[in-house]
Amino acid sequence: MTDEQRRILIAGGGPVGLLCAWLLGRQGIPVRLFDVNEGPQADPRAATTHPATLDLLADDGLSADMARVGLVAPIFQFWDRPTGRKVAEFDHALLKDDTEHPFVVQCEQFKTAKLILERARDVANVEILFGHEVLNVEQTGSDVRVEVRGPDGVTTHSGGWLIGADGGRSIVRKQSGIAFDGFTWLERFIVLTTPFDFERSSGYCYRSYFADPDEWCNCFKVSADGPPGLWRTVYPTNPALSEEELMSDAAVQARMQKFFPSNEPYEIVHRNLYVTHQRVAETFRKGRVLLAGDSAHLNNPIGGMGLNGGIQDAANLADKLGRVILDRAPDSLLDLFSLQRRTVATEFVQQQSIENKKRLEARDPETRKRNLDELSAIAADPVRARQFLLRTSMIASQRRIASMTLEAA
Ligand SMILES: Cc1cc2nc3c(=O)[nH]c(=O)nc-3n(C[C@H](O)[C@H](O)[C@H](O)COP(=O)(O)OP(=O)(O)OC[C@H]3O[C@@H](n4cnc5c(N)ncnc54)[C@H](O)[C@@H]3O)c2cc1C
Repeated sequence: MTDEQRRILIAGGGPVGLLCAWLLGRQGIPVRLFDVNEGPQADPRAATTHPATLDLLADDGLSADMARVGLVAPIFQFWDRPTGRKVAEFDHALLKDDTEHPFVVQCEQFKTAKLILERARDVANVEILFGHEVLNVEQTGSDVRVEVRGPDGVTTHSGGWLIGADGGRSIVRKQSGIAFDGFTWLERFIVLTTPFDFERSSGYCYRSYFADPDEWCNCFKVSADGPPGLWRTVYPTNPALSEEELMSDAAVQARMQKFFPSNEPYEIVHRNLYVTHQRVAETFRKGRVLLAGDSAHLNNPIGGMGLNGGIQDAANLADKLGRVILDRAPDSLLDLFSLQRRTVATEFVQQQSIENKKRLEARDPETRKRNLDELSAIAADPVRARQFLLRTSMIASQRRIASMTLEAA
């Protein structure tokens, strides 16, 4: 095979595309990655990295580096907001025999991307081209070509395979005619970030979920630029209100005060509004085109599973593509990648993230009571709590797909 036949093209240099580039490049495979941005995104979206994902990233010290620049969070809590009662507390220590990382790491996604980019830049056969937008995708039986607009105009690049890691609006997915079925939530999610210390004021841990029939909330700590760190609060918004109405200083203060009453106005350092979807691509492989990350699946952020799923896609795909290219394994391995990762996205992440949202927003008093009593009962029983944690930490889904074969599908 020539270098061009072996070359992997990647559209998108978010954390998932960069990880694919590094994992493939360090196997000696030539990689060329294009991202439309001029540099890595300074994006505050994902932070929570689960044990199953940390286990995959342990190689070369990446998980340890993420823990160093982020925060280690062994515990998460559920609260009933109207009564102020702590309903349940879960400690990942119960998973000490299931994972090398019995904790979550809160590491903002721009930091994760930066750590991966530093590693990818050390690999000579990896080319990272920022300021390059993928415009068109075309494949034949033997190669795949992309048209790319860069500083020198439009150029054509070809390779053996193309990975679409170009996010939720993926041009690679659209041009490959891959359906992206699902739905969009009517309400947008607003994220308000403050230095106010909720641990000191109220005893909230680094990951706290608040059920409320009126308006739920998630509250997380991230390390930001170092101690003391920042707290991110996430809420649903009224679909009838405009972005201006939701993001005004008065509206932001009113929302914070309603949820977390305080004598002082809150200092708000970031405010972000997100449209949220639940969608999964009909396949993660079409011929020589492969999808990973948000281009393949989108879900609401409650439970922090979107990027975790994308990182798991990248690790699975890089392993199988490496075997196809280097060991001449049959390319049906890539169908197995699609089957395994699509199964996690549909049977697990979609289901769990929707269930998480329903649990926090339930309005009917009996349903609310049943949900919260159930959480308390699970947390109080170490056997049930471990089973619960195996799901939330994404270990159960990784185990489920490890035994999957194409023949059995
Ligand atoms: C509020 C919020 C909180 C979240 N929290 C968590 C969390 O705690 N844990 C978690 O696991 N997930 C979380 N997520 C989800 C997470 O942010 C996404 O799953 C993650 O960003 C996906 O990474 P990606 O690399 O697939 O896509 P992206 O990060 O979207 O990157 C795609 C890249 O492709 C580039 N691109 C797009 N089109 C083109 C083109 N035509 N040509 C070239 N480049 C292109 C873009 O510039 C971008 O750099 C959260 C999401 C939100 C909204």
